[in-house]
Amino acid sequence: MNSRRDFLQKLGISAIALHLAPLSGWADSKNNQEDAYDGPVLRVAIMGLGSYGTRVAEAMRSCKKAKLVGVISGTPSKIKDWQSKYGIPEKNCYNYENFDNIKSNPDIDAVYVITPNGLHHDEVIRVAKAGKHVICEKPMALNAKQGQEMIDACKAANVKLLVGYRMHFEPKTLEVIRMRKAGDFGKIKFFQGLCGFTIGDPTQWRLNKQLAGGGSLMDIGIYAINGSRYMTGENPVWVTAQETKTDHEKFKEGVDETIEFQFGFPSGATASCLSTYAMNNLDRFFLNGDKGFAEMQPSTGYGPIMGRTNQGELTQPITVHQTVQMEEMSDIIFKGKQPVVPVDGYEALKDLKIIDAIYLAVKTGKKVDLSL
Ligand code: NAD
Repeated sequence: MNSRRDFLQKLGISAIALHLAPLSGWADSKNNQEDAYDGPVLRVAIMGLGSYGTRVAEAMRSCKKAKLVGVISGTPSKIKDWQSKYGIPEKNCYNYENFDNIKSNPDIDAVYVITPNGLHHDEVIRVAKAGKHVICEKPMALNAKQGQEMIDACKAANVKLLVGYRMHFEPKTLEVIRMRKAGDFGKIKFFQGLCGFTIGDPTQWRLNKQLAGGGSLMDIGIYAINGSRYMTGENPVWVTAQETKTDHEKFKEGVDETIEFQFGFPSGATASCLSTYAMNNLDRFFLNGDKGFAEMQPSTGYGPIMGRTNQGELTQPITVHQTVQMEEMSDIIFKGKQPVVPVDGYEALKDLKIIDAIYLAVKTGKKVDLSL
């Protein structure tokens, strides 16, 4: 109704005309226009039918520009279940041994890799060699060396490599970025990112160094790393970091429980962040400039994201992050659309270089310089 009124006001139509006009007919035709989409649809196979894979699949039910059409899994019973739930034909089902055959399947455009972190490198390279676009979950890989190899493989195969940075499409996040670019906060001085939760089951892959690549930093701390970059609009030039561990049984050698890290940016702004698997209620961003501030809490959870700035509450719409992400990724792949904050392999590589630097800073106790 509001948009209809705005529309008519823009046309200069009076309140009487507004009252007389057939509301439902107008609204229906508008909705039909919005619903009608006859552009290309990204046909996606999900690899790894676990908890996040399921969330993405459910969110894709509402997509117009992307569709779940295939699965790759090592568990035949899960494949059957997904086939009946999402109407996936037998010819689009693969396992970890035979998924290279996807190369000769013309009905799949892209594979979304949603497996444990330590598997991303080899799986993404195999998908690229099969000639399909790849969407990979965060962290893209275990380190920058792996990340570069994945970028090179996708480039050589002439396929796109995108990473599941869903916050890059979140409306309140984008509003803060818009305000920062418009100078509403003045010169940015400081960012704080607090990311963490108390992890449960000690046998899960997130606590296995080989599969996780580390601990909380790889899994949840990456949101503060990536967020510090899109909130400030800068890349760090130095890193310092400190690790604390209270449970040496659960968090074995190489699996971090809590890491605090600090960044320095070229402008002189700094960031102070905390990543942990040992505390709940940690999902908070704070950005401070010499004219204003933004604070978001929750800042990177599934939502609703909430926040305010010195100008008031952030009121942008609540979205299902994964639905918007897949719609946008379809446009990026098919139409070359440029997102406000990139979601490509190079963007992920920057985070991996920072992660390498944080672990080095923890190990050496020294400040590590970065050039991204
Ligand atoms: P999960 O354990 O729920 O699912 C992992 C899936 O991978 C399972 O189906 C499992 O069977 C499969 N798998 C294949 N090979 C495996 C192996 N060798 N060992 C263990 N599992 C194997 O994990 P998840 O929470 O879905 O996380 C998967 C990926 O998604 C991770 O990279 C994680 O960081 C990412 N993730 C991203 C978000 C986000 O908001 N973007 C949220 C959660 C997870």
